[in-house]
Amino acid sequence: MYHSVMDDPLQAASTLGGIVHSTKVFREQMELIARDYNTLTLADVLLFVQGEKEPPTRSVAITFDDGYADNFEVAMPVLDQTGVPAAFYVVVDCVENARLPWPARLRYAFYTTKKSTWAESNGTLWPLKSFEQRDGAFLKACDDCCQLAGARQEQFVSGIERDLDAEFRSAENPMMTWDQLCGLTRRGHILGSHTMTHPNMAYLPDADLQIEFAESKRSLEERLNSPIDHFSYPCPALSPHWRDRTVEASAQAKYRTAVTTNGGPVRRNHNPLCLRRVRPTKDIEGLRWNLECTFLGRSV
Ligand SMILES: [Zn+2]
Repeated sequence: MYHSVMDDPLQAASTLGGIVHSTKVFREQMELIARDYNTLTLADVLLFVQGEKEPPTRSVAITFDDGYADNFEVAMPVLDQTGVPAAFYVVVDCVENARLPWPARLRYAFYTTKKSTWAESNGTLWPLKSFEQRDGAFLKACDDCCQLAGARQEQFVSGIERDLDAEFRSAENPMMTWDQLCGLTRRGHILGSHTMTHPNMAYLPDADLQIEFAESKRSLEERLNSPIDHFSYPCPALSPHWRDRTVEASAQAKYRTAVTTNGGPVRRNHNPLCLRRVRPTKDIEGLRWNLECTFLGRSV
């Protein structure tokens, strides 16, 4: 379960936080996987859980969430050089508007603002002097924002950016373009949906839930001119990030697989609409440890 790969992960500390791998470590991890493990596509994983394919033992599938520009510019060349296929789950509104997903925008606003307080809509005043205070206010805003989708979410986020006078701007598009997404599929990688606007799907009203599942699938299929079968449930704040109702809605939207951020192996006969994943550490031996523990059935 990867997100972002950059030469210098610290350059994104105020937006993406700790989800960035360095190019060097990512390359070494892909070399490890290509050498000591077998690689699968998400399509292979589906056939496996359905009992239609028996992959070699110690098989691994690589996924990327969110759709950052570095997935195409930095990660894809490494994947192609090492011969490792991956699935990339993108947030449609972020691609369409060339804008970071909302958790990155809020992190930037709370961590870089020069304001000394944040007034929550209910009147609560949050001091923003120390790192801990900024972090506390950021996490509270995330808990509220993750339950919103679409225009209401955008209103919430841009309201905070305005109040804190700290809107993230960048000369370069932080997200992949439609052309780059087509480039990924041309090289044999799989594209999937990570919703329209990155809410916590377990906390959404039904109407928003349908839009996030169905509209993101429809938009991606239209722009990329190919079927979108795979989904990744965002996990931006609060717990859980999927429930039985969420899984049913993903089936109704005709997804064939969906991945969670829960740790653990995928076994035959697991429900393909709530597949577990493995967190990649930021070093080589840690990744090997997590994979070996996972193969033994332990969640890490
Ligand atoms: Zn995400």
